[in-house]
Amino acid sequence: MDPNLIARTASLYQRVRHVIPAMEWPLFAEDIDAILALKRRRHAVILAHNYQTPEIFHCVADIVGDSLALAREAMTVEADVIVMAGVHFMAETAKLLNPAKIVLIPDQEVGCSLAESITPADVHLMRQRYPGVPIVTYVNTSAAVKAASDICCTSGNAKRVVESLGVDRVIMLPDEYLAQNVAAETDVSIIAWSGHCEVHERFTVKDVRQLRRDHPGLIVLAHPECPPSVVAEADFAGSTAALSDYVATRRPSRVVLLTECSMSDNIAVHYPELDFVRPCNLCPHMKRITLANIRTALEEMRHEVTIDAAAAEPARRAVERMLAV
Ligand code: SF4
Repeated sequence: MDPNLIARTASLYQRVRHVIPAMEWPLFAEDIDAILALKRRRHAVILAHNYQTPEIFHCVADIVGDSLALAREAMTVEADVIVMAGVHFMAETAKLLNPAKIVLIPDQEVGCSLAESITPADVHLMRQRYPGVPIVTYVNTSAAVKAASDICCTSGNAKRVVESLGVDRVIMLPDEYLAQNVAAETDVSIIAWSGHCEVHERFTVKDVRQLRRDHPGLIVLAHPECPPSVVAEADFAGSTAALSDYVATRRPSRVVLLTECSMSDNIAVHYPELDFVRPCNLCPHMKRITLANIRTALEEMRHEVTIDAAAAEPARRAVERMLAV
């Protein structure tokens, strides 16, 4: 190992020292150092979702956030290459908004149970079944599904998007629980699909009550992909950005985030004085992204994300329409 490596990466380690034990740092330092050099050589930026592990999120990413933030920030990027440390639909969204850039995904198999729960043919069937009812599609879908819909939404803006359409009924695809959680907050009637996030659907009311018994004074924050019964038990529900803001502004002394496991680690880096209770539900798709495959993606310029020409234009319109809300 390069004898200067640990010294060169020491300032990065300071950022994550509360969540990564010192003895594990040498396992990460070499890839981090190589990735930082490759980013300069390739004129590349790394976008990382909130569910990425801290060594990616805090040590090599240039832009971090939830799906909405990554979609917005992708549009301002001046680099030639965008590496998406997230799942495939996020890389597609970055490509839709930056068609002239090379977008790389470090692992081609990074799927998502929500994105896989619906096809463009399903969307067309819904349109036939409910003629004239606008179709709002969660960004957690393929470009082809976005192309078949009218407008996209994220968990952060879903209510605003639904109400922006000025109608009394919308179809909202594919996350059944997000649709039900939005329906509870709006007068617009919502027709849902039956997709679920395999991470958030696992949280139960029983879990929440047990956590409160085990950790007195606990503040429970839930993502709206959780079942409505779980959201009803929580103290606050919102997108990953909203959950992060809640912790930043309210500083609950003991808190649990009912969402993907790494999210708590990434926030805890900033608030070591707070007690984060961490029931760990991992997203197996997000966890396919590693420092090693980010490094290989940049070394070999692999795997480039492309979008079918017929889907690209209507999918871009649906995303841009959302960004304009
Ligand atoms: S956490 Fe859920 S919604 Fe997000 S990528 Fe994983 S399976 Fe998809």
